[in-house]
Amino acid sequence: MKIIGLIGGMSWESTLDYYRYLNEGVKQKLGGLHSAPCLLFSVDFAEIEEYQRTTRWDLATDAMVVAAQRLERGGAEFIIICTNTMHKMAAEVQAVVNIPVLHIVDALAAAIKAAGIDTIGLLGTRFTMEQDFYKGRLETLHHIQVLVPDPAQRQQVHDIIYNELCLGDIRESSRQEYQQIIASLQQRGARGIILGCTEIGMLVKQADSSLPLFDSTHIHAQMAVNFALGEMDDGVLQIV
Ligand code: GLU
Repeated sequence: MKIIGLIGGMSWESTLDYYRYLNEGVKQKLGGLHSAPCLLFSVDFAEIEEYQRTTRWDLATDAMVVAAQRLERGGAEFIIICTNTMHKMAAEVQAVVNIPVLHIVDALAAAIKAAGIDTIGLLGTRFTMEQDFYKGRLETLHHIQVLVPDPAQRQQVHDIIYNELCLGDIRESSRQEYQQIIASLQQRGARGIILGCTEIGMLVKQADSSLPLFDSTHIHAQMAVNFALGEMDDGVLQIV
């Protein structure tokens, strides 16, 4: 089994879910006491959030690059960045290490295509919903049409992530807001919803939605399990 390197702590609440999904995934496939060999580099999220908010993406990139290099030096055989937003600098991270970085969008795209869906709603941080690194990769590389909420709804989704979910604060009122936003994406033609922020799965479960949900945390972790077990071709899903 390959050793998985996790760049985590963004937020640590969702890194806990990654850790659980990785171990559950390996146990499911191998049985018994099997678990996932992994290394975790967990950042101080307050620093990262400040870089994001003040658009110091250069410093945010430096932090991800250093984390990846530490994981490689420690013996990780591939890397997953445990946040959607910080895939903004996935290519820069891939450029500084000699091990693959498994891209969260590619994991999602495979799952969405397997479900036969070609138009998807996207929930995530404002960066994820508005910038090209994420939507663009889904549309251009994977040919999946992406719908995002309107600007006011995007702000709501974003604020709930940073002010509540990243602090482990789960509120029924926020779940209902997300459900309304999912319903409006459905009316506009979405056939499924990407939970494109690694904390949203803590708030919204499949039972809360009439559309199929694609939870980025779970799907990315599953991809890592498959890769660790040699069930995926080396290089197929490396960052281009
Ligand atoms: N975990 C979130 C994501 O998947 C947001 C935190 C971050 O900005 O990294 O995008």
